[in-house]
Amino acid sequence: MSDSVERHEFGAEVGRLLDLVVHALYSDREIFLRELVANAADAMDRRRFEALTVPASALAPDAKVRIAPDKAARTLTVSDAGIGMTKEDLAQNLGTIARSGTRAFAQGLEGAKAEERPSLIGQFGVGFYAAFMVADRVTVTSRRAGAEEAWTWASDGQGSYTLEPAARSEPGTDIVLHLKADADEYLEPYRLDHLVRKWADFITVPIAIVQEGREE
Ligand code: ADP
Ligand code: MG
Repeated sequence: MSDSVERHEFGAEVGRLLDLVVHALYSDREIFLRELVANAADAMDRRRFEALTVPASALAPDAKVRIAPDKAARTLTVSDAGIGMTKEDLAQNLGTIARSGTRAFAQGLEGAKAEERPSLIGQFGVGFYAAFMVADRVTVTSRRAGAEEAWTWASDGQGSYTLEPAARSEPGTDIVLHLKADADEYLEPYRLDHLVRKWADFITVPIAIVQEGREE
């Protein structure tokens, strides 16, 4: 590991939570994409709101969420031009459980019917961790609107994460999922397109599925 890479342990509850999300929701694992797109959309809304008072934060009018499968690399990347995260935001938002906590989520899962389980993820504010249902490694590169520097958060979901300086030409966030061997279906544009259409009613931002650099 180079000198500029910092390793941090997850907050105490995160490990248990990851386990719960990955195992309890396995049969609904396609919802990871809805959660990541919802986060991207939230980030774009926050940037638009901030731009009302901070003109430098303005978002391009044609800004989209981009979903880019790469079969050769076996990665799926979800990118946005949203508010972005500082180094501290990455550690706080993706390394600790900010809100209701693991116990409440676990109790919710116990009481829930199978078909209600996926909605609990959004309700308890743990959607990001759903990425680990399909990925054995996740990297998040982000640049906060108004900041010059970017940072990369990376984790295999096994107790710790790293933070290191990165480069990003514009504010926003790229979530790169290194897909598990059994998650090939999420490299297929038609499959991704189907999922995006399925959730179109919840998702209000424009979305592009990008293949080999081309938007579909
Ligand atoms: P929730 O969206 O309910 O807060 P998540 O687990 O989905 O819970 O995300 C945790 C937090 O991480 C978000 O509240 C947000 O602060 C941050 N976050 C996640 N994805 C992004 C993104 N693409 N851009 C900016 N911030 C993000
Ligand atoms: Mg979310």
